[in-house]
Amino acid sequence: MIMSQYYNPNRTKNRYDANSSELFRLSRSKIDLFINCPRCFYLDRKLGVAQPPGFPFSLNSAVDKLLKKEFDIHRASGTKHPLMETYGIDAVPLAHEKLNQWRDSLRAGITFQIEGTKVVVTGGVDDVWVTPTGEFFIVDYKATAKEDEVTLDADWQIGYKRQMEIYQWLFRKNGYNVSDTGYFVYCNGNTDKKAFDGKLEFDIKIIPYVGNADWVQETILDAIECLKGDTMPAPGVDCDYCKYRKAVKQFEK
Ligand code: SF4
Repeated sequence: MIMSQYYNPNRTKNRYDANSSELFRLSRSKIDLFINCPRCFYLDRKLGVAQPPGFPFSLNSAVDKLLKKEFDIHRASGTKHPLMETYGIDAVPLAHEKLNQWRDSLRAGITFQIEGTKVVVTGGVDDVWVTPTGEFFIVDYKATAKEDEVTLDADWQIGYKRQMEIYQWLFRKNGYNVSDTGYFVYCNGNTDKKAFDGKLEFDIKIIPYVGNADWVQETILDAIECLKGDTMPAPGVDCDYCKYRKAVKQFEK
């Protein structure tokens, strides 16, 4: 049998060890995993058995990259992007020496070490805009392709909202003045064309979201307690992975 080069089901690195003197990075996506299923979080972060990864969303990443370039032009000139004008947002893309670091979720990101622990919470932000009074808006780029108008109303989009709130919390912990309002720059691929012609055009919409980060600190402390424990926590309620495992198990001898 050939083992996939992309997946190691018995990871030895990046596992929580209460006795280690090294810092332990806890990303915002793993906090989301904890919320969805404490058991899977424990298996992954403590025991090194993570869910198999999905395929990378290369087209979404390409849109992110191009949007970053576009907003960077206005960042350099200190001007509003036309979309910000259209939506009446009184801010410009933030020019800050740490911005590239904050965007780099894998190697750096915006970070905060939880007092009295070795746990460093991390997140990689897409963009930050700043008002004339120095208040920050956290900005997230999203790409999709659907026939209906893009909204934030679907149940599964709670993850997007939590992501925004964790970033707001992280920036506040770093001493910045952050608005409760964040923005999603949502790009929707337009499939209503006669032919492809090698081009995919997008409708771009800015959707404001008023976050409430009150839950973040407590949830992180709960996640750390979970990692410190010696017993496997209960699984999440409605998980497709678990259903799959149970279904397979009935045929195994
Ligand atoms: S419920 Fe799903 S997410 Fe949780 S441990 Fe089972 S497989 Fe993992």
